[in-house]
Amino acid sequence: MPTNAVLDARSRGTTLERLATQRFDLLVIGGGITGAGAALDAASRGLRVALVEARDLASGTSSRSSKLIHGGLRYLEQFDFKLVYEALRERDLLVSKLAPHLVKPVSFLYPLYKKVVERPYVGAGLVLYDAMEGTKRPVPFHRHLTAKSALKVAPALSPDRLAGAMRYYDAQVDDARYTLTVARTAAAHGAVIATRVSAVSVSRSDSGVTGARVRDSETGREISVSASRVVVCAGVWTDQVYELAGVPAGYQVRMSKGVHIVVPREAIRADSGMILKTEKSVLFFIPWGDRWIVGTTDTDWSGDRAEPAPDDADIDYILACANRVLARRLARSDVIAVYAGLRPLVAAASEKPTTKLSREHVVDVPVPGLASIAGGKFTTYRLMARDVVDAVVDGPESVTDRMPLLGADGLAAVKAAAGRLAEDYGVSRATVEHLIGRYGSLAADVLDLVRDDPSLGRALADGRPYLRAEVAYAVTHECALHVDDVLLRRIRLFMESADSGADVVADVAAIMGKLLGWSRRNRAAEIARYLDFVAAEHAVLGNGSRAAAATG
Ligand SMILES: Cc1cc2nc3c(=O)[nH]c(=O)nc-3n(C[C@H](O)[C@H](O)[C@H](O)COP(=O)(O)OP(=O)(O)OC[C@H]3O[C@@H](n4cnc5c(N)ncnc54)[C@H](O)[C@@H]3O)c2cc1C
Repeated sequence: MPTNAVLDARSRGTTLERLATQRFDLLVIGGGITGAGAALDAASRGLRVALVEARDLASGTSSRSSKLIHGGLRYLEQFDFKLVYEALRERDLLVSKLAPHLVKPVSFLYPLYKKVVERPYVGAGLVLYDAMEGTKRPVPFHRHLTAKSALKVAPALSPDRLAGAMRYYDAQVDDARYTLTVARTAAAHGAVIATRVSAVSVSRSDSGVTGARVRDSETGREISVSASRVVVCAGVWTDQVYELAGVPAGYQVRMSKGVHIVVPREAIRADSGMILKTEKSVLFFIPWGDRWIVGTTDTDWSGDRAEPAPDDADIDYILACANRVLARRLARSDVIAVYAGLRPLVAAASEKPTTKLSREHVVDVPVPGLASIAGGKFTTYRLMARDVVDAVVDGPESVTDRMPLLGADGLAAVKAAAGRLAEDYGVSRATVEHLIGRYGSLAADVLDLVRDDPSLGRALADGRPYLRAEVAYAVTHECALHVDDVLLRRIRLFMESADSGADVVADVAAIMGKLLGWSRRNRAAEIARYLDFVAAEHAVLGNGSRAAAATG
């Protein structure tokens, strides 16, 4: 692994010095999937690249999605064939070549209730969906199921009115981990990646953009970054960045809130994901280890962008949609976590010639050397990244369609060596497989930490697969600076455990604090901040007492 692919939180000072002293060809503002993708796209074209992210990588929408890498079956209904075609091609590229360790096929059951009308209609859609993918396919073709076979796959479905089902395949991903891996791959190609650093203004001269002024929120230090081009990948914050750049926006971003609930696997008996049509859109049941993610909603939002709050109505809506088809109803008490994200939906502000509108994402070049992009979806991030870099760079073409992400190279060999690795490092084979599923061929780097400090080989939380070493690795390789960076995005205990990771927060703070030199006071403050956050999130689930018990 190239050493600069390591985003070591302990050498953050050096990262900031590089930001302050180097001249960059391109500065990316925003470290969601689009910004991380743009940094990788530009760095792999041979440009000198820096990326600043105001909070943590993927802390915005890119850690709060449905986590599907999909063609978007429902767009076929809107006759958006080009969009589906592009997304399917991207899905297959990620599953088979660019990130097979992170993007994994998943099957979905589409239950049918009006046999005569629905089966030919949905069937035709799926034939098209599969045909668009072509014959060299990393995921299986769809299949027709009778009601009886559908109930075998998903006994959780109510047999009432069930006329049959279709089974088709898409793919899923840990969105935050994927974003982080793209950013690390960009770093491997020389990009400087700085988190908790926000752009506060964009600098310009008569001839164009000269860089940006940024502020480090850890220390308050301000830095002038010198860059001949700036690309803005700020999602729902795009208008704010236009304001600080002092230029009119070529489009507007509307925020739509999408909420998911998380329930235990045993609450819904099914061996496949499921998708239902709802009045407004679709509802997914997505398998997530020993949990289900169920969602989503779609409501306008104008509140806090950083922490959009799910409310009672969101949870009730999801439960009501799910219960229309389930034999055993889901209850509020089944819900162990809830999370909300904001879709950045774009609308053109006017017919500005600088604005290139596409159905899914928009690229705007308000002044030479400054471009912004928003909209789109996670699945097509690579194309979005290419488009926004193309908008400001003449020269080498994007090569990311040929560049496997970090951890993809040598994956087959590492999988074949799982048994040997387990023996060599004195851990179970299941542990090695868990690590390969998250870090691909870099799994041994995590295990090396266990060799140095055997206490890191212990499980972090009872009943969860994560190792304490993964907390240390998050600091030494994945730029985690705070406890929430680890528990919300590097390790998904916040959404996977009923107490949101409250019972391990002290351990996490101890492991991180040792590496980052936290005082006892720092450590206590980190723990208190996380527990406050958890308490606020649990208030909406109406189980404040459960969280309080765990946190007390
Ligand atoms: C509920 C929901 C479900 C979804 N499900 C799917 C799905 O299953 N599949 C799919 O393909 N897509 C899905 N999407 C869409 C997908 O998640 C988004 O399109 C994608 O994550 C947007 O990424 P982004 O990088 O553009 O924005 P973000 O991830 O929000 O990144 C923007 C970043 O910019 C940073 N920033 C803002 N201002 C500044 C500043 N001044 N300086 C520095 N940094 C700044 C923010 O902190 C933030 O991290 C879903 C979206 C939602 C909301």
